[in-house]
Amino acid sequence: MPELPEVETIARGLHKRVAADTIESVWLGSKPQTMKSPPTEIASTLEHTSIASVRRMGKHIVFDLERTGSSPTSAKNAKAKRANSARAQWIVHLGMTGRMVVCEPDAEIVKHTHAIAKLGSGRELRFIDPRRFGRLSVHRSGNFEAGGVEPLEIEKDQFVALFRGRKTPIKSALLNQKLLRGVGNIYADESLFRSGLRPRRRASTITAAQYELLHKSVQKVLKEAIRAGGSSVSDYVDADGEEGFFQLRHRVYGREGEPCLVCTTLIKRVVIGGRSSHYCPKCQK
Ligand SMILES: [Zn+2]
Repeated sequence: MPELPEVETIARGLHKRVAADTIESVWLGSKPQTMKSPPTEIASTLEHTSIASVRRMGKHIVFDLERTGSSPTSAKNAKAKRANSARAQWIVHLGMTGRMVVCEPDAEIVKHTHAIAKLGSGRELRFIDPRRFGRLSVHRSGNFEAGGVEPLEIEKDQFVALFRGRKTPIKSALLNQKLLRGVGNIYADESLFRSGLRPRRRASTITAAQYELLHKSVQKVLKEAIRAGGSSVSDYVDADGEEGFFQLRHRVYGREGEPCLVCTTLIKRVVIGGRSSHYCPKCQK
């Protein structure tokens, strides 16, 4: 499943390829669960718009759209028009297996293609999703809220305030999307290892100094992953392969029974809130 760094990489790759292009027409498939907004509303919101930018919010890809349409008849009209349509948004959640592909129109339409946007440049932007956990929606007023705080933007004090009073394990708090948005299982485990904190540790027992380190670790791990993912961006967006996802060089995640890279103690796995959690019993307290 794509996590924050992958979604960031995909959004950047899409921005590079389709920003300033226009959406001329839209075809949508008939699978209802993919469409979170009514299909007619998706099509009417996307068609005849210019893509101002593509960016990530949490684990969502957000296309900021501007209406291109016919030229307005009066200044007042133009102003009203801008207010109405300038901030429309197309929100894409990739789910487990969703992919956004920019391709030439004669490229084969592969199975599980759920949406095709024809672009002014002649290319097509396609949404492909075999397992159909991905979601497409539109926000006509452009006020999409992903909930929670961006982990890469949060300041140290705000970070501490978010977690300090909680009695839940810190791992569960890190995964709570209402607090931080977009930190998934892998990056939570890796951040906790780098901070010397066990996943089961109660958030309320963590010291200010440890929170300072955790705040740094979360941002460092995510940025490291984004940096490494940046070079393989074409694998996500252009190609058909699903193997393009960048894998951070994991120190604990998925390494149960293997020696800790710092102290050689065997890495343990526990289940917290239904999620696998990996840690070093010696390095993490
Ligand atoms: Zn260790």
